[in-house]
Amino acid sequence: MSVLKLCLLSSEIVPYAKTGGLADVAGALVRNVSALRHDVRAFTPLYPIVRRNYPDLQPVLGAQRVPLRIGDTEYGFSLLTCAYPGSDAPVYFVDCPALFDRPGLYTNDPDEHRRFLLFTRATLEGCRRLGFSPQVFHCNDWHSAFLPLYLRTLYASDSLLARAKSLLTIHNIGYQGVMPSAAAADVGPASVWALLDQGDFGRGGINALKTGIRHAHRVSTVSPTYAREIRETPLGMGLESALRERTDRVTGILNGVDYQAWDPRHDPHLDAHFNPEDLRGKLINKEMLTATLGLKIATSRPLIGMVTRLTEQKGIDLLMDALPDLLQARDFGLVVLGSGDSKYSGFFESLAQRFAGRVSYRTGFDEPLAHLIEAGSDIFLMPSRYEPCGLNQMYSLRYGTIPVVRNTGGLADSVQHFDPGTGRGTGCVFNDYDAPAVRWAINTVLDWFAIPSIWAQLQRNAMAQDFSWTRQIQEYEALYRGLA
Ligand code: ADP
Repeated sequence: MSVLKLCLLSSEIVPYAKTGGLADVAGALVRNVSALRHDVRAFTPLYPIVRRNYPDLQPVLGAQRVPLRIGDTEYGFSLLTCAYPGSDAPVYFVDCPALFDRPGLYTNDPDEHRRFLLFTRATLEGCRRLGFSPQVFHCNDWHSAFLPLYLRTLYASDSLLARAKSLLTIHNIGYQGVMPSAAAADVGPASVWALLDQGDFGRGGINALKTGIRHAHRVSTVSPTYAREIRETPLGMGLESALRERTDRVTGILNGVDYQAWDPRHDPHLDAHFNPEDLRGKLINKEMLTATLGLKIATSRPLIGMVTRLTEQKGIDLLMDALPDLLQARDFGLVVLGSGDSKYSGFFESLAQRFAGRVSYRTGFDEPLAHLIEAGSDIFLMPSRYEPCGLNQMYSLRYGTIPVVRNTGGLADSVQHFDPGTGRGTGCVFNDYDAPAVRWAINTVLDWFAIPSIWAQLQRNAMAQDFSWTRQIQEYEALYRGLA
């Protein structure tokens, strides 16, 4: 099979910069596509944290202080590079201190759109400087969603880039990159504005993600169910009809899991390892977890874990209704790691006070604790309002930690409701987004926990699941090949 030439754009990529699942997926794509011997190159912004942690990045000859105008401002950018860890794939960092030297990866600054317009244009200009002619540009989320339109306009007669195709992957449709119409001059010349959604433009806005959906050659999202939900239900958050216009060009590919990092057989964050044949290490992790967090529950009692951003998306509102009663009525422990909205962190703080010794809440971003919660909990809770893919439920399955999930997006595609009659299924799945449904689900899973033979069957089923990238990557390869 012929070698594909691919260019991937992502606003975050592990191990350099991460705020969520997008970084994991971008990194996994680069490593796994490169392992198939394709010529894949990644572009990402050079944030201060990357400059600090990776002082040995090499300047790219011929791509230093390249002038690039966004609206009325002349910005220069330079490219720095290194090989992606464990691969030959180059990563190119777009260095533009005027736009990227900010405290976080993302900002609420008035020039936020310019930061990623420059990133997108610098990728295209960078490819020209490198003499790199990708067959497919793989754009991710709103940050690079103008690229498909640029290919059709600014680069339509470029000798290197005119024939390139574009794929736009939507990791979360909740973030669309909406900017005021006044930003039109930043987006590009009149030939570009003419192809923006004129209705939106008239109402005062330019929607980056919608522009990408309309102009990309293909659109994908991170699970088959989410692909359907964003076309057919209000989960499309206003972009349903834009997606329906492209129905035959929209696909869902479930994310994979990096089992080098997330496998209880060799997880580097754990002292005690385990596998489906020998779960003694899981109990040791449970003891370590409860001891670390100062919980006083016996190891024979069920322990529920959560690791999550505390946003409305994650379904914490349901837990605010359901958990206090459940904790009164039943004997179980709860550990929560997550930060975000103070409404939700306040709830967990007060729950931990009221049920001291049974409930623990930790805030901040803590990778080792996230691994210990996966390994040491019996049950993992993800009652999301929507979930494009979700990674933690797939990690949980590997660790024999039974997921309780709502029937939405990637949760629906990766967890099957357990049937004690047939012994089939991997978790507890509830449908309605309301407190009685989550209450039913938690009661059900606690009842299963109380019967050792049922629980052992569930854990066996869960741990036998395989969501490795080696499987999922073939779907991306087929998509790239179809485009090329
Ligand atoms: P999303 O991208 O919507 O946040 P995902 O489930 O796709 O949700 O990915 C979230 C990733 O971030 C997981 O790897 C999860 O373990 C991790 N994570 C979330 N919050 C924390 C935290 N407070 N500490 C450590 N890891 C976290």
